[in-house]
Amino acid sequence: MSDLSVVCGAGGFIGGHLVRSLLEQGKAVRAVDIKPLAEWYQLVDDAENICWDLRIPERHDESIAELLWGASNIYNLACSMGGIGYIENNKSDCMMSVLINTNLLDSAQKTCNRYFFSSTACVYAADKQSDPNVTALKESDAYPAMPEDGYGWEKLFSERMCRHFREDHGLQTRVARFHNIYGPHGTYDGGREKAPAAICRKVIQAKLSGKHEIEIWGDGEQTRSFAYIDDCIRGIHAITDGDYADPVNLGSSEMVSINQLVSIAEEIAGITLTRRYKLDAPQGVRGRSSDNTLFRSLYGWEPSIKLRDGLEKTYRWIYDELAR
Ligand code: NAD
Repeated sequence: MSDLSVVCGAGGFIGGHLVRSLLEQGKAVRAVDIKPLAEWYQLVDDAENICWDLRIPERHDESIAELLWGASNIYNLACSMGGIGYIENNKSDCMMSVLINTNLLDSAQKTCNRYFFSSTACVYAADKQSDPNVTALKESDAYPAMPEDGYGWEKLFSERMCRHFREDHGLQTRVARFHNIYGPHGTYDGGREKAPAAICRKVIQAKLSGKHEIEIWGDGEQTRSFAYIDDCIRGIHAITDGDYADPVNLGSSEMVSINQLVSIAEEIAGITLTRRYKLDAPQGVRGRSSDNTLFRSLYGWEPSIKLRDGLEKTYRWIYDELAR
């Protein structure tokens, strides 16, 4: 097998960091995304960068099988998604990403060895996440199935496709359930941003404008855990290179409320804001955190970069973007 990796969704947040990491490991990388190259969050010249809508199996005269040809590993991070405001209001668009995974798996079974799929904590059943003091979610909590409507159903179905391509065709599939990944070079405005980037942006805008107020979606008591991008990339490598083939959580177990997240961002900024709660805004489940028992037992470590440390780096990056 060659040392070529194909990264799908390479113009996005996690994909961009993964391309850099694979190149640092000495791998050759083919990077693919639907966005024009000028809109990629990180464009790395050492990779072969290709613009392709992966919902469509051909581009010009080339097929996806040709795109994947010669790769040892394929990473599927391509997906139309966003924070809770986006996924609650664009369910059909989120579900269309099933075509990406379908096309890639169908071609990967003929061409490659390992296939990594980025799933999500949104596959977990809603009734296990109704309390802010939630019990951390373990992998078996995805069934009986009642995931996030739209986005979560697409991911759960795609997880199953990975399993059946493994069972039926011998493709080595690996699946990570990401829990709220954050860090520099991600979406921080435009409607698809997630809570850590959104809160950093709002705090920075309040600081720069001198209008010391912040709008918080819901009552701020909903809880989440957030994993820093460096831990996520390390986890992707551990899962892809390892032997375990069923879905595994990739997240932090440091659970905070959104109000606590705002307080950390305020502390980094050195300001205190008046909080305005928008109670009718999308909030998602009431509580969610990652049970890392399985991850620890498989890989001997777990994501542990402190939220305060990761958020400071994220805040500084967004600040520089906004102050430019
Ligand atoms: P992102 O939006 O920054 O990156 C996704 C990329 O996929 C984008 O650049 C987008 O242009 C590309 N894409 C979308 N449709 C495409 C298509 N038809 N063909 C080719 N490319 C297409 O998101 P991200 O945060 O980097 O997330 C990467 C993956 O991880 C996604 O599958 C997402 O569902 C999953 N995930 C992310 C998080 C998180 O907290 N960031 C949490 C759970 C799961």
